[in-house]
Amino acid sequence: MARTYDVIIIGGGVVGCMAARFLSRYQLKVLLIEKRSDIGSVTSAANTALVHPGYDPVVGSLKAAMNVAANPMWTQLAQELQFSFDRCGDYVVAIGEEELPKLDALFKRGKQNGVTGMSLISADEMRRREPLINPGVSGALFAQTGGMCDPFGVTLAAAEHAVLNGVEIRSNTECQGFIIENGRITAVRTNQGDFACRWAINAAGLYSDVIMHKVGIRPEFKITPRKGEYLILDRAEFELQSVYFPVPSHVSKGILATATVHGNTILGPTAREQDDREDKSNTAEGLDQVLSGGKKLIPDVNTRHVIAIFAGLRAAGNAPCETPGVDYQHDFIVEIPEKVQGFVNIGGIESPGLTSSPAIALRVIDLLRDAGEKLVEKRDWNPNRPARSVFRHMDGEQRRKLIEKDARYGRIVCRCENVTEGEIVAEIHAPVPATTYDAIKRRTWLGTGRCQGGFDMTRVTDILARELNVSPLSISKKGKQSELLERPTKILGDSHEH
Ligand SMILES: Cc1cc2nc3c(=O)[nH]c(=O)nc-3n(C[C@H](O)[C@H](O)[C@H](O)COP(=O)(O)OP(=O)(O)OC[C@H]3O[C@@H](n4cnc5c(N)ncnc54)[C@H](O)[C@@H]3O)c2cc1C
Repeated sequence: MARTYDVIIIGGGVVGCMAARFLSRYQLKVLLIEKRSDIGSVTSAANTALVHPGYDPVVGSLKAAMNVAANPMWTQLAQELQFSFDRCGDYVVAIGEEELPKLDALFKRGKQNGVTGMSLISADEMRRREPLINPGVSGALFAQTGGMCDPFGVTLAAAEHAVLNGVEIRSNTECQGFIIENGRITAVRTNQGDFACRWAINAAGLYSDVIMHKVGIRPEFKITPRKGEYLILDRAEFELQSVYFPVPSHVSKGILATATVHGNTILGPTAREQDDREDKSNTAEGLDQVLSGGKKLIPDVNTRHVIAIFAGLRAAGNAPCETPGVDYQHDFIVEIPEKVQGFVNIGGIESPGLTSSPAIALRVIDLLRDAGEKLVEKRDWNPNRPARSVFRHMDGEQRRKLIEKDARYGRIVCRCENVTEGEIVAEIHAPVPATTYDAIKRRTWLGTGRCQGGFDMTRVTDILARELNVSPLSISKKGKQSELLERPTKILGDSHEH
């Protein structure tokens, strides 16, 4: 088979891309396949974007271990990969005296999980730190290791860095099965043909159970998608200082109010189970719940501040925790199963999966090493990814210099977010190229302001068609069957008679 790899990663979310980035350090031929037109466009693009300290997961679970191991890695990763990350700390806020004991329980759990930098603060101190907080606050747990990021930006940075260090990424390539010979995986079957490999890594998120069942393991494992809905508030109208959780319930961390690295506030998420793995629609009921949950923490928020809504699906699994004596049925899976050779199995990576992703990648490497894989480091591996110019973050002098070098940075395409043609073109020709409108939007944040793309969509379509040298009719929102234009309405040309 011509297309032969040492490792094939199935799924280009934050887990697959982080694994690719950490594996790119070694002399291995690695391919990452992603069934959609772009990496990172599913759960890794639609979540709360927080780097959790680790006081929430059940003590003794793999979730807790991965969360706490990963949290400190984020500072260095953000520097090396040049993504936005703010270690702003986070707060769990008790409203009313009856919620106070829950803070003590979380504090204790955090200590047991090995979380450092936690403190219990008074109601007065909480009101001083966040003047918008509900005046009925009775106290808060502050964790200084909490942080926020742009989760798609993290996924893209990891993917790009992997590509710069030799990993191949193929989008529109769906794993449909495996060739297994004498109990060992020898190839991944896809809609683009077969790819031979020595190892296949399951990082398929909401479909991780489907992949497991195709190799014949864990028949009882099932992903039940759990939807989380959100409201995004206009940053011109509303600004929070940090991240504010309510005291958690038994199913989720509850509806929180948080600042973001982009300056907007988001409220959410809900937590509702569903069967459908694709339905990310918002519901009136869900959004009402988000608003009332948000108001409980920040009473000033109202619908006038809302500029957008979205939803994400947690890949909630039913894997029992393997630590003896720990009764917990929703743990992460990161393993090399005995039943089939050449398979690294990752599944049930719901929250805190984003936070945990670098630790999961390191665990994959440890598992491969334990399985006898000789991991030889590349001599020329470069830990750093160069940053690209972000016009809206520059001062006047920096902007002037950039425009002098390339006039396309002087043409604003998105007026709300100040995104220039130069930035769009850079994304189209980047190591992980943007080829659709949504791919440009996720990378540049264009179309996310008040007008929600009303002004920029036609310009972006035009630029994509020009740079990719294709007809504008083939430019889509998010891949095939979402083309933005149907047919020409007018032919402008040389004939003056028309
Ligand atoms: C509402 C919500 C809030 C959250 N908040 C946080 C948070 O604040 N902090 C935190 O740490 N975590 C959070 N999480 C969890 C976090 O977002 C996820 O754990 C993480 O994004 C999972 O990444 P992934 O790579 O496993 O999955 P995904 O991002 O879903 O990636 C899987 C990829 O595999 C691809 N794929 C699937 N099947 C195939 C196939 N057969 N062949 C090829 N490709 C395939 C998919 O198209 C997809 O791109 C939240 C999740 C949700 C939904």
